[in-house]
Amino acid sequence: MDLLPLRRGRVMAPSMGLAAVVVFASLLPVGTAGAADGEDAAASAAVAQVDVDAREAPRGVLKAHLRLPVSAGPLTLLYPKWLPGRHSPAGPITSLAGPRLRAGGAPLAWRRDLLDPYVFHVDIPPGVKLLEADLEVLTAPAPDGVVQGLETPRYATESLALVEWNQVLLYPAGPSSDALTYAASVRVPPGWHTATALAPAPGAAGADERRFAPVSLTTLVDSTLLTGRYWRAIDLGGDPDVRLDIAADRPALLEMAAPIEEHYRNLVKEAAALFGATHYRHYQFLWILTDQIMPDGIEHHESSDNRSPARALLDDNIRRAEANLLAHEYAHSWNGKFRRPADLATPDYQAPMRDDLLWVYEGLTEYLGDVLAARSGLLTQTEFRDELARLAAQMDVHKGRDWRSLQDSTDAAPLLYYQDRNWAARLRRQDDFYQESALLWLEADTIIRRASQGRRSLDDFCRRFFGGPSTAPQVRPYDFDAVVAALDAVEPYDWRGFWRSRLQRTGGGAPLSGLRDAGWRFALEASPSTMHTAHEVEDHEINLQYSLGFALGLDGGTISDIVPDSPADRAGMAPGSHLVAVDGHRWSADTVHEALAGRAASIALLVEKDDEYRSYTLGYDGGERYPGLVRDAGPDLLEAIGRPRRAPRASPAP
Ligand SMILES: [Zn+2]
Repeated sequence: MDLLPLRRGRVMAPSMGLAAVVVFASLLPVGTAGAADGEDAAASAAVAQVDVDAREAPRGVLKAHLRLPVSAGPLTLLYPKWLPGRHSPAGPITSLAGPRLRAGGAPLAWRRDLLDPYVFHVDIPPGVKLLEADLEVLTAPAPDGVVQGLETPRYATESLALVEWNQVLLYPAGPSSDALTYAASVRVPPGWHTATALAPAPGAAGADERRFAPVSLTTLVDSTLLTGRYWRAIDLGGDPDVRLDIAADRPALLEMAAPIEEHYRNLVKEAAALFGATHYRHYQFLWILTDQIMPDGIEHHESSDNRSPARALLDDNIRRAEANLLAHEYAHSWNGKFRRPADLATPDYQAPMRDDLLWVYEGLTEYLGDVLAARSGLLTQTEFRDELARLAAQMDVHKGRDWRSLQDSTDAAPLLYYQDRNWAARLRRQDDFYQESALLWLEADTIIRRASQGRRSLDDFCRRFFGGPSTAPQVRPYDFDAVVAALDAVEPYDWRGFWRSRLQRTGGGAPLSGLRDAGWRFALEASPSTMHTAHEVEDHEINLQYSLGFALGLDGGTISDIVPDSPADRAGMAPGSHLVAVDGHRWSADTVHEALAGRAASIALLVEKDDEYRSYTLGYDGGERYPGLVRDAGPDLLEAIGRPRRAPRASPAP
């Protein structure tokens, strides 16, 4: 789309000051004294312009036209590579077509850096002050209906699209992203709605066009835009305001039951009660409901980009499985955006991120997401416990801990986000620093509650570390010592030793002390919990990891994630095989469950792999086994942790 607006000579709004120039090539930050040296006095108000045409997004084409103020000489242009929230070099460079550069009315040659494909070198001719660039981001559904993963993300369906600004722009090397100013606009398909945390620019825009006030490149990249045909907007209250905008692939998917809507209002209240302050001017939840885009969530400071299966509001199982998504991403506004590990507070998208503190950034957020979901009513108390049991069980089968510490799983996050789950349990671990760290933050919570005899809790740490006076978005970096000091200020304890030993441990099972100290014991039970079933439904699989030792995809009987020392492992089964028959009967969920319930001395599986058939005999008579929690001695701290902080308004009758 070729930047139609600009090729047709659209004039920028005067308030954007586009005629003025920031000298990118000389690396002068916007707005600092001396920035206008030798240039127009209005230089400090200069902006780059990015105009996005999303009208063809449904067919997988997103077009952008950039106008970058430049000066003569060598210039290095960067395509955003290390993305906040992704913690990895995830900029979708393989989906990028372009740039096509023009300067002074003529095409301008460029050359890609030989060491880094995200870097483009160009020489700006004498007298040229404006560089124009055309980009396209191209995506398509994966073959065979497989939902694409992080490497080649889809951002649009026939009825909705996400515009992640980092995908559609270039920026000059040198200045920090805080010091570069961009004004953005977007054209959307006729009649589609939009939502973003960006403020609109003053003045009129064309039909189906939105223009936004200039912001720093940091803020632009942090302000994903959602557009869609079928739409629902909900004011969630709060001070400052919190808004939820939902786009779905079909109008019927937008029906949210009144009690659920009330739970999301409660979420805003519970977060305010937990942190005691906010660090946004307003907050915008974006939520897409589709089966065409991988379920995910990406945090931003004043918004979050939430992606759930199509029936997340309608199917109770999927609703439960997704219950902590918005709570998790919302908590990141405090933990991850306002307070950020110093190693992740990078000056631009080219500086590598170091992920060594993700056990705070993601691990504590994983814990708080579940806690806030319980306090808001999005999860019942039983579901909250069952979710913790599920995390504990998952971590207990991850034998990669034998060689890889929790610390290494965070250090290696840029790799682990891109691994598939096969062999994760046996050899590698996955990005399981989310779940394992969550269990450790529960343990820290129980230590504070028990030592203070219930007078203090991890809530006090959250208020101290993430609260303070309410502010507009800002970043306050921290390091390991700051986390230890803040915990110590809440409850004196050997927090340094606590974290060091748990982060560096190799070998052993899941850390279960937190559950035990909360008055609960992890156990395998004969019936699946509602949360186990919820995740099975969402993942289209039967999770037999705690009995036969593998997960079984319902679309094709794919065997995955074989657990070490399980019956499947001992029989020599391989991930990627396909189940054909169980005890001589064509496989189905029913025949699998019947074989387990029969509790014969062994179960015979016929499996297809690499165009060959093999029979396996699994020595197992233990019946069905699923993770659960059994009440143990001592006070029930999980009830105290999941209890609402603020009395929610009475829910309307369903
Ligand atoms: Zn997260």
